[in-house]
Amino acid sequence: MDNIDPDVITLPAEGIFRIAVPVPLPLKYLYSYVISVGSQYLVLDLGMDTPQARQTWISVSHHLGLHPGKVTSVFITHFHPDHVGLAQFAAELWDVPIFMWEEEIRTAYNVFGDDSRSLKPFFEFHGVPSDMAAYLDQEQFLAKSAVRLPTHPRIQPLEPLTTWGPFELLTQPGHTDHQLLLYWPDRRILFTGDQILARITPNISFWPDSDPDPLSSYLHSLQLLKQLPVGVGLPAHEAIIPDLPGRISEIMRHHDERAQHILDMLDTPHTAFAVAKRLFTRPLTQFQWRFAVSETLAHLEYLRRRQVLTFNEHHDKGYYRAAKSS
Ligand SMILES: [Zn+2]
Repeated sequence: MDNIDPDVITLPAEGIFRIAVPVPLPLKYLYSYVISVGSQYLVLDLGMDTPQARQTWISVSHHLGLHPGKVTSVFITHFHPDHVGLAQFAAELWDVPIFMWEEEIRTAYNVFGDDSRSLKPFFEFHGVPSDMAAYLDQEQFLAKSAVRLPTHPRIQPLEPLTTWGPFELLTQPGHTDHQLLLYWPDRRILFTGDQILARITPNISFWPDSDPDPLSSYLHSLQLLKQLPVGVGLPAHEAIIPDLPGRISEIMRHHDERAQHILDMLDTPHTAFAVAKRLFTRPLTQFQWRFAVSETLAHLEYLRRRQVLTFNEHHDKGYYRAAKSS
């Protein structure tokens, strides 16, 4: 049996192994869950396809005895590279089907397929300088290099399931349009994916061709999740969440404060990039700028749809402004 760093596998609840899979992102780890259900295992989320992450799974598999036949299913919460990247690797390692909600599968194969489209015009329209827009667009190609999706067979849809073994399968929008959360009512455990995290506020971004009002969808989801009887939240990044309703209230408050902050600065027209520059005053990496702009847009669109802001195009750029000042 391999020696394995004790921090790699922890046991937050009986029969649930939490696996720290290294990811080359500021969050450092993706936490996968290996869940024993009867005599078999369900694996939830995988990590990016990097040599370090592959090695982690090989060691963990030896250590926990995850042979083909022992792992019966892999579920992926959403299409982001740090969750789905190792899908092909896992399918081969355990000879197992990989499952997601159908809409997330479609998005994954679109985004990481060969004909994904450039986001440079989108960033430029929202005020990002041309050279920076080109760089931000590059990030999607970097992400692509850490994703290998299975082709024979492809990832399989969970539809029309709403339950699986002891779990309720929830579809929750906001972070992506159809994120899968597993709820285990008998044990009052919610696997929160990236929908609720312990320290950072999950990224809620506006992108072309996605949910046109992701922040509104997200806030609705939080309201619903707050009502669930949950003893512990097990997220895909950062620490476990002992007080889920309390954490949800904090995240809601953050979004209220940010909305007010944005509103206060929009007496004069601003592009989304100009707003983001005033919101994010600490130094950001290019990778972080990509999300700073798309998160700001989620807030701006939320406020515009509630008639608090107006939006106008001028010389091929979009400008937001407080409705009362126009
Ligand atoms: Zn993630």
